[in-house]
Amino acid sequence: MQNCRAHPTIAPANTIANAIAVDTPVRAADLNPPPPIIDIGVNLAHDSFDADREAVIERAFGVGVTRMLITGSSLASTRAALELVRQRPLQLRCTAGVHPHHADDLQPAQFAELAELAQLPQCLAVGECGLDYYRNFAPRQAQLDAFRRQLELAVQVGKPVFLHERDAHADFRAVLGEFHGKLAGGVAHCFTGTHQQAQSYLELGLYLGITGWICDERRGVHLREVVRHIPAERLLIETDAPYLLPRDLRPRPSSRRNEPRYLPHVLQAVAAARGDTSAELAHITSANAQRLFGWHAGTALSAQPDRVELTDRRIPE
Ligand SMILES: [Zn+2]
Repeated sequence: MQNCRAHPTIAPANTIANAIAVDTPVRAADLNPPPPIIDIGVNLAHDSFDADREAVIERAFGVGVTRMLITGSSLASTRAALELVRQRPLQLRCTAGVHPHHADDLQPAQFAELAELAQLPQCLAVGECGLDYYRNFAPRQAQLDAFRRQLELAVQVGKPVFLHERDAHADFRAVLGEFHGKLAGGVAHCFTGTHQQAQSYLELGLYLGITGWICDERRGVHLREVVRHIPAERLLIETDAPYLLPRDLRPRPSSRRNEPRYLPHVLQAVAAARGDTSAELAHITSANAQRLFGWHAGTALSAQPDRVELTDRRIPE
């Protein structure tokens, strides 16, 4: 997996607004009707969306991205994500977590608040959490501690984990191994690793989230082979917007900001690499997201249990 924050260059909101009218349509939008798909990783609370967040959401709906799971990567972004979910309880949910870059921030008071937020019905997973030894913005021991605490939290609340790993595969695998059989599932988000790494995550029962990284003609080529060997029932798709704009959109968008409306493009790239049809893969990945996160279409928050039954969701040992 690569760090979604490896690509922080996001156009200012004012230039983004100007770019919208002339932007390219997504090819999958030509499918009629577009298959409903779920973006399982979108940083909708990011400030690059402050100027036009509603329009971003509407554009995603317009190409069949009917539901979005908003990534919480700090306490602040988790709170902001929860507020967005309250505004659109049918189409949005969020995760609650602290990214390894912010591991130092997870002091006891912050952890107590995170534990409260993670129990809310709007929150479907604990994370984004994990290890990032590429940037090492936080000391490794702090990352390991924050990661373990969030995995423990996920076990306590009986919700799956939304995982981030970069250049830390061995430690990441070892820590997850400590929790094997206890977690209510999880996804290795923005997976960009090798075939062997994919297999080791699959053995742990994880799903693998594929982003527009696969569209990258320089760094994503190996991933097109790797995804051929991932069982369809373990695949999820995500944009990680505003990061990781697919590099092969034509004509090129004038903004480098990614949006959830490009999820059909990611879907098509994954389907093409695997020899699946987009419609098939849309159906399978949506079913996977519903199963992992316990999020069924048309479910209003009031109809959801506050707690997920842990016994129904455990990965078999
Ligand atoms: Zn990430």
